[in-house]
Amino acid sequence: MQADIEQILLKPDAISSRVDELADEIMADFPPVEPNADSLMIVPVLTGSLIFVADLVRRMPHMVRIEVVTVTSYPGTATESRGAKIVGELPADLTDRHVLIVDDIFDTGRTIEHLKEQLSTLNPASIKTCVLLRKPDRVVVEDKPDYVGFDIPDEFVVGYGLDFDGHYRNLPFIGTLHPDAISSGRGDSE
Ligand code: 5GP
Ligand code: MG
Repeated sequence: MQADIEQILLKPDAISSRVDELADEIMADFPPVEPNADSLMIVPVLTGSLIFVADLVRRMPHMVRIEVVTVTSYPGTATESRGAKIVGELPADLTDRHVLIVDDIFDTGRTIEHLKEQLSTLNPASIKTCVLLRKPDRVVVEDKPDYVGFDIPDEFVVGYGLDFDGHYRNLPFIGTLHPDAISSGRGDSE
């Protein structure tokens, strides 16, 4: 698996320190209103944010709720987005809650835009967005994410939750794939 990696862009230590900072930024913006009251409704976008959100929420000492949404945007071996599709139910009760959407990467930005539109129909008090990665050269939407871990070049990356054809999510770092690994499209699709 490691042999398929061309270049490591972000090592585990760099990711970990940045996740510390992101958690601090977010918690500063959402202090607890009263003891034991929910500060935030965290909405992780599965599957890519799985590892990121697990690390992020464990750095948050306040009361939060977590309700996942599942979105597919890169079916199988595609590395170009074919548009976001929400799979299954939206969170049941967002009314008057402060919502934080957490995703792995802001590429064109369409996934987050689409989700924000959908979740805003559920009458939340506010919606903010947090992404670990952003590719500034690829963004096509107006709205910016509120919290960004790292800006990265326009390259297809895997690891720390991000997959290619369902694989590589368990790598502890973020890196690019060898062109050979992309063209052979290893493994079954998700
Ligand atoms: P957007 O809608 O912003 O164009 O795409 C966001 C989604 O596309 C992300 O949540 C992620 O699932 C997928 N994506 C975008 N860029 C990459 C990438 O470099 N690597 C991987 N593995 N997925 C990506
Ligand atoms: Mg995703």
